[in-house]
Amino acid sequence: MSEFTTGLDYAKEQDRQDKLASFRKKFHIPKDKNGNDWLYFTGNSLGLQPKTTKDYVNQELKDWANLGVEGHFYAKNPWLNYHEYLTKSMANIVGAKPIEVVIMDTLTTNLHLLMVSFYRPTKTKFKILIESDAFPSDRYAVQTQLDFHGFDAKEGIIEWRPRSGEDLLNIEDLETILEEQGDEIALLLIGGVNYYTGQYLDLKRIAEIGHSKNCMVGIDLAHGAGNIQPELHNSGVDFAAWCTYKYLNSGPGSLAGLFVHEKHANNKELKRFAGWWSHNKSTRFNMRQPLDIIPGAEGWQLSNPPILSMAAIKASLDMFNEVGIDALRKKSVKLTSYFHFLITDLKNEKIRIITPSNPEERGCQLSIKVKNADKSLHDKLTRENIITDWREPGVIRCAPVPFYNSFQDVFKMVEKLKEVLDD
Ligand SMILES: *Cc1c(COP(=O)(O)O)cnc(C)c1O
Repeated sequence: MSEFTTGLDYAKEQDRQDKLASFRKKFHIPKDKNGNDWLYFTGNSLGLQPKTTKDYVNQELKDWANLGVEGHFYAKNPWLNYHEYLTKSMANIVGAKPIEVVIMDTLTTNLHLLMVSFYRPTKTKFKILIESDAFPSDRYAVQTQLDFHGFDAKEGIIEWRPRSGEDLLNIEDLETILEEQGDEIALLLIGGVNYYTGQYLDLKRIAEIGHSKNCMVGIDLAHGAGNIQPELHNSGVDFAAWCTYKYLNSGPGSLAGLFVHEKHANNKELKRFAGWWSHNKSTRFNMRQPLDIIPGAEGWQLSNPPILSMAAIKASLDMFNEVGIDALRKKSVKLTSYFHFLITDLKNEKIRIITPSNPEERGCQLSIKVKNADKSLHDKLTRENIITDWREPGVIRCAPVPFYNSFQDVFKMVEKLKEVLDD
């Protein structure tokens, strides 16, 4: 027996009971030309804009206009320490200690900077393990790191792939790879929530398996941050990075998060690429000091950060603080389980959900595989102002986001899906 029921009345009742329902009004929801809200299911790609973002950014524009360079010290939120205002909230969201987290640069940049420190290949132990469905940017980053160190990328990349005929990764296969080839592997770089299938992997297990063969373990959390609760500190992974424009609603191309586990916080022997923002804050502006690295994640910073983008992140994180990641995740599990229930109930052979059905093994996204990779289905949804995204090969990704999607959104979406499938 399912906990869910079909029918619009049920969806309406769930929205009435939803304690987070009022947050929808705090976001700009794009509308069609008749003024109806789009059914926006792509928070996994670009989160919607909080209505407060404009005020946060305007504050910094105003302080810059009125204070010029003095804004570094006298702005309402002095720019010099701006990233510090974000650390605690961000650490909360990913389950880390403040010393382990900093907001800086962009995701792919951070992956490279982290690999400078944590990918230290030797002649015999140099390979990098990724998922066969790794995000292209991560794969290119890994390829070029191998190349940079003088290794052949073809030989140097080991792929963890689903078994033949399956869609999802199996942790036992990772164990086998490590047992057989672990002595040659220097680094595991894995998407914590896979962008294509939506599978949420067991980070703690991955860290244990990697560490048992003395490999470093890094996690790309682009699809995890603000979506699931990765408990980064307890997982024991060495490092992680994520962007803030997906589930963290901070605007296109906004800055990224970087995590370095506390166990590495005071290791000044780690190689790194540094800049003046890596240096001890109390002597940074004396300008003549030899490099004195800040302990923890802040020591990976290079540059003074773009405050306008930081302001948009602050607007979003303040909302996360207000609602709490526990409450968001709780609603998310219910909303996506409901979505899963309705799609399954269609019993339509043209589509198949490849995301795990167990809520513990997924975030809010469901990936729907379409028979014969028929992209016209996605196009028809888009024409109905149902915004999902198409990913080769043959998948429609849909993410009901607990912050701003409702049970009625999900209901209406599946009704339309049924219509276009029957078309
Ligand atoms: C979104 C995403 C990226 C994008 O990288 P940027 O540097 O922010 O452009 C990279 N990797 C993964 C896994 C992603 O989901």
